[in-house]
Amino acid sequence: MNGKKIYIIIFSISIIGLAVVQYQYLRIGLNLAKVQFNQKMGLAVNDIKEELENSNELTFLVGKAITEDDTFFKLSIDSVQDASSYFMNDFLKGKLLQQGIKKEFTYTLYAKDSTDYLKSPRSYNNEEALLRYPIPLEGYLPSLIKKRLVLELQFKNLNKYFLFQLNGLTIPSLLFIIAIIFVIIWVLKSFYWQKKLITITNEFINNLTHELKTPVFSIGIASKILQEKTKAENRELVDMIRRQVDKLKNQIDKVLELASLEGKKNFIEKKVMDFKPVIVNLINDFEQLAALEKFSFTSEIKGSPYIINCDPYHLENAINSLLDNAKKYSIEKIKIILLVFKEDNNLIISIKDNGIGISDDDKKKVFDKYFRVGNGDVHNVKGYGLGLNYVQRIVKLHKGKISVKSTLGKGSEFIMNLPLHKNEKQ
Ligand code: ADP
Repeated sequence: MNGKKIYIIIFSISIIGLAVVQYQYLRIGLNLAKVQFNQKMGLAVNDIKEELENSNELTFLVGKAITEDDTFFKLSIDSVQDASSYFMNDFLKGKLLQQGIKKEFTYTLYAKDSTDYLKSPRSYNNEEALLRYPIPLEGYLPSLIKKRLVLELQFKNLNKYFLFQLNGLTIPSLLFIIAIIFVIIWVLKSFYWQKKLITITNEFINNLTHELKTPVFSIGIASKILQEKTKAENRELVDMIRRQVDKLKNQIDKVLELASLEGKKNFIEKKVMDFKPVIVNLINDFEQLAALEKFSFTSEIKGSPYIINCDPYHLENAINSLLDNAKKYSIEKIKIILLVFKEDNNLIISIKDNGIGISDDDKKKVFDKYFRVGNGDVHNVKGYGLGLNYVQRIVKLHKGKISVKSTLGKGSEFIMNLPLHKNEKQ
């Protein structure tokens, strides 16, 4: 799984987690709001019950309405009933408000024998979703009609009401979650945009150095041939061309090595490919150089293809570094051998020289950054002590291993061990 997928999965899980936590908080909030509402209702119900027990203006009017007694008022019984319905409504509204309940409600005053006596001025059509609070009445009104009377308060859409009360919590937390999502998406986008930019830059550097290497190599070879054949008067000029071409070649090699120095992993771009043609090319070039510089170079490449998951530019450059070192750290009768073969699902690349060799102590350090063997005789050769460190990093990034065998004064052998791609059969 690549990094991008992991980040997106973690991000999605976190956002879902946050939403679930918010949902749970909301549920707890709703439950608390319900408990609080019931407490308030309990107080309001007690109050209502107490006040309706005795004879007062309201119970007197309601009494007339439910007994259909129009003798006291000079009004029709319908008007008396209407008026008492409104009075009762205002009375209940006032009692609820006293407890801080601002929710709309309806009510019914009915007897246990299911006769409705009084209804609120407005009523709900859909009776299912109603939350009911029946209040059994005592005292004045039941004794008037000699029946057990119940005043029932009904509320609709209580959840909506509670949610509205919790809006102060839900809306900001929703806004914050949306803000977090936006910011994270923006950060991820710019992160991947930058990563893409780095990849493009690396690809550009790799391509450019590769493209530069070929003409520089040809100019180098041509100038070497010229050096041998040119007249004495032009020799200085040709020498200058050679020196500058060598410098240029070193600089180009360094560009690739320096790209790896920044400590980033993604400076290489791997692909599954046959590496054999790259090695064959590299051997051809080195053979030309050996012929010109008159040193011995032999190679043996066994088996094919060499399917590996690699960055061909950097891997080729790493092998070149080892070949360069073999040449650099040899004094006379230079003899370099390159062996390439497959063994136990690995591609083995060995570069052997008969040069100055490395002591046992130094062998442990040659792959360290900036390390150079501190021997006066040796360091007439220029270098920064970066080459082998670069080679080791490249080999590790290809999930391979590098080792060195060396005897001081006799020569060295650097061995690269690269895993073949799993689809390749021996
Ligand atoms: P540089 O060549 O720039 O000094 P390297 O990292 O390539 O840096 O090598 C580190 C040191 O290891 C060299 O300075 C040299 O002393 C030693 N070394 C590398 N390759 C060889 C070799 N083939 N034979 C002997 N010594 C070597």
